[in-house]
This record gives sequence, C-alpha cells and structure tokens, in this order.
Amino acid sequence: MEEIKNNALYIGGVRAQDLADQYGTPLYVYDQGVLENKLEQFIRSFRSDRFKTTIVYASKAFLCTAMARLADRYGIDLDVVSGEELYVARQAGFPMERIVFHGNNKTLDELKAALEYGVGTIIVDNAQEARRLASLPVSKPTTVLLRVNPGVEAHTHEYIVTAHVDSKFGVLKDETDAIAAIIDCVEANPNLRFQGFHAHIGSQIFDRNAFKAEIETMGRFLAGMKQKTGRVFPILDLGGGFAATYTSEDAPIPVKEVGPFILEQCAAIDDEYDLGLERILIEPGRSIVAEAGYTLYRAGYTKTTPHKRYVFVDGGMSDNIRPALYQAKYRAEAAEKMNEEKTETYCIAGKCCESGDIVIENAALPPIETDDILVVYTTGAYGYSMASNYNLLRIPAVVFVKDGRSSLVVRRQTLEDLVARDAGDAL
Ligand SMILES: *Cc1c(COP(=O)(O)O)cnc(C)c1O
Repeated sequence: MEEIKNNALYIGGVRAQDLADQYGTPLYVYDQGVLENKLEQFIRSFRSDRFKTTIVYASKAFLCTAMARLADRYGIDLDVVSGEELYVARQAGFPMERIVFHGNNKTLDELKAALEYGVGTIIVDNAQEARRLASLPVSKPTTVLLRVNPGVEAHTHEYIVTAHVDSKFGVLKDETDAIAAIIDCVEANPNLRFQGFHAHIGSQIFDRNAFKAEIETMGRFLAGMKQKTGRVFPILDLGGGFAATYTSEDAPIPVKEVGPFILEQCAAIDDEYDLGLERILIEPGRSIVAEAGYTLYRAGYTKTTPHKRYVFVDGGMSDNIRPALYQAKYRAEAAEKMNEEKTETYCIAGKCCESGDIVIENAALPPIETDDILVVYTTGAYGYSMASNYNLLRIPAVVFVKDGRSSLVVRRQTLEDLVARDAGDAL
C-alpha cells in the first residue's frame, strides 16, 4: 500500500522519488503486495462447496513473465488471446494445462502451437475455427468451450462493450443450430472434449445485475441446449469485467462479494434448469492489476493558454492510451508534495504529437515545478499492455515493489531496441 512520510509518497515502502531516480521515468510501478492481495481475495471469494471453481487471470490486462509467475504462485490460471501472449506464458514456465486460449481469429499456427504445447482449454469463437481446430491432430485430451454472445450489454463506455448482437466475438446465443453443429464438429476429433460455454459481457462493470442478467441468460441458453442435444455441459465460463477504482466516483462491487454472488446465481440456474454444472470459471483482468499499478512521470514545462493550464510529462498516450481511447479518468498527485494544498488545476498532457494526448484533463495539484515527480494512480491495467512506440518513445520499465524493496521486472526499451528490427534499405 502507499503511505505518506514527510510529504513524500511511498509505494510498497519505497519512496516514489527514489524509484524515479533509480529507474528513470516514465515508470510503471506495481505494488506487489496489492497484486498478491487481489489474487488472494479472488481465490478466497470464489470458492464453493457445490462447484469446482477456477479463476483465470485475463493476461491481456498486464502480462510479463513476473506477472505470469505470480499468478501461478497463487494457483490462478491464465487466459491468453494470441500466440504472443502464449509465448510469454510459456517462457514464464506457466503450466500449459492451466492456460485458457481465447481469441476470435486464432491463426492456424496459433492453434497448432496451442496443441503442441498442451494448452488445457481452447475457447472456440466461430464455426470456421471449430472446423480448423478439429482437423488438426490432437495428441492429448483438450477441453474445448464455445464463446457465446449472450447479447447482454454491460453499461460501461460503449467502445468496451462486447456483447451486443453485432459483436465480433462468439456465436449469438440464438443460433442454436449453428452451435449444435459446432459441438458435433469439435467432437469429431476424439481428443477434443466439448465441455461448455463461455461468455464475457464487457469491462469495468459496476452493476452486479449485469452479471445476474448474464448468468440468467446463460441459464436459459444452457437449458435450451440441453433440450436440443440431450446432454449437459459441465463447464460455464463467465468471463471478466469486474470494475476497479480509478477515481472517487468509482465504487466497484467488492471482490469478496462478487465471487459468492456469482456462485449463488450459478446455483440458482443449475437448480432451476437441472443443468449439471460442475465447474465455474471467471476471468478477472483489470480488477487484479489496475489498482496495484502506478505510473511515475517527470514534469517538464508548464504552459498557460486562455482557458487552460498545462503541465507536460515525459510520457503520455504512448504509455497510457486509455484517456484518448475511452475518455478514461485518472487521479494524480505530486509525489514529493503530498501534503501541500492543491491550489492549481492542471491539464496533464503528454509529449506525443496528438492533441488528444492527455493523461488527466483537470487535475487538482499544488504548484508544479519542472522535474517534480507526478504519480498517476490505478494504471496497472491496459497501460503497459497497450503501450506503443508512438513518436518512438521508448516503452517504460516495469518495477515491482514490496516491503521497501524494488525489483526491475521489465527493463525500459533502449535506443538500440528502436532500430534492432530495422532489416534493410529502401530499394
Ligand atoms: C478482456 C477480457 C477479460 C478481462 O476483462 P477485464 O475487464 O480486464 O476483467 C476476460 N475475458 C475475456 C474473454 C476478455 O476479452
């Protein structure tokens, strides 16, 4: 957790200014204690006497080998969406049978790699993928789920909603003939075990009724599929989307309540429709890593325009695209002026060549001087993982902190990295 001593911010017992000085800025800092706490909270909250339960960390929120190993340490499985994420998981030594492989357009090479490595669960997205997967040699029993679009919209920012009827993800729940055909197709391969369905209704979901609606919809869907096929589907994967607290306006459902709530709803549909559910999966991403993450920037110049007061930082949309992409809101402080009165309102802007390169539109801060360290909170999800080399800014380093110590888990890109892939000359 963070504390303030003598006006200075400490994260995981390490002074933020010292981290900035030692590792440079911009810098992604993760409080490992908070990460561990979140992993443990999910494990503790998502337990049931009735169902087997599995927590699958949606690695797209933040993945590096250190994070994969940390999830493994807590017995949390890993969801990957690409051969690249799969590669990092494998490099981390993550047990392949505990990988869940997602994605709406897994290539032939990706499917082959998954089968060769022994990925435990493959989530099929569509009929063509099912056909392709089933045509491949599978050497050991592999669980297959089908992603279904339940048509439930979680009311977050519309760009993040994935479950509308025209979503690119999954097969619409009403297309039961097509779904039955996909199941037959998968099971034509003797080592592919079709076990159930997956749904994911969005991100940064605050309203538990969204999950209730998802589960009730899946209950009716499963009842229909049971009737249609004469069999039960023991695994139900409900996806992720659990919210994190970015600003004081956000009030997510506490993790310790969300697990029991979901399991209760699952028991209710299982009872109502006699579904034979055995295992329930959830796939939290953001809610595990967001609040553990901080970004440290060094302030550069300030500029006053007719209606605004800017402070420029040494990163921006290249290390955090979310404000530009989703109008995401963040909170910031001056790391060495924590107790000073916030007399100013700054627009914290980055150094990229885009007017939309803004980190925080209106940040209340004490007067900022060049070289002050600014800390932006809750940047642990979809910051590093969506970082780019726009304007060829280098992707920042990632540091874990805990108990007064820090560990560099991803080094900053070097200038040499920026030309390392340049392979030849123009014709
Ligand atoms: C993105 C995603 C998640 C994780 O979402 P969060 O909002 O980060 O919890 C889980 N499952 C699937 C299929 C996803 O696409």
